[in-house]
This record gives sequence, C-alpha cells and structure tokens, in this order.
Amino acid sequence: MVNQRHLGKLCPFAKECPVYQEELLIDKISPFLIKNVFCNRGQKGWKNCERFKIADTGQEIPATATPYKQS
Ligand code: SF4
Repeated sequence: MVNQRHLGKLCPFAKECPVYQEELLIDKISPFLIKNVFCNRGQKGWKNCERFKIADTGQEIPATATPYKQS
C-alpha cells in the first residue's frame, strides 16, 4: 500500500505544528502565506520548511522553530 501521507498536499505534521495551528506567529508574515508557501504545497513546499526538516529526521523540534532558518 502506498504511503498516504505523501499523496495529499498538506504537511503530515500540520495537526501538531504550532505554525500551522497559528499558535506560533511569524513576524510580518501571515499564516495564510506560510500555509500556501510551505504547508499546503506537497513535498515541494515541505522540503523548504526548516521545521519540517527537523521533524522529518525525528529530532526534537525546538519550540520556536519556524519554516525559516533561525538567525
Ligand atoms: S510545512 Fe512546516 S510549518 Fe507547515 S505544517 Fe509542516 S512543519 Fe509546520
């Protein structure tokens, strides 16, 4: 059976992701934009998300991790 997680366009971590759930807001960037650029875009978008990359390797995700690189 094909892994269903990768068929849809929504990130498999969306349900527990505070960025997607809009609990962790990113300065000057609307949640709508973030979702369109990263979360709802299939592998193409997820792969550009720093938070996704950490989650995908099974590492512990820092509470403040966002789709963008921490400076
Ligand atoms: S793409 Fe990134 S920000 Fe969006 S739900 Fe997945 S882990 Fe969260």
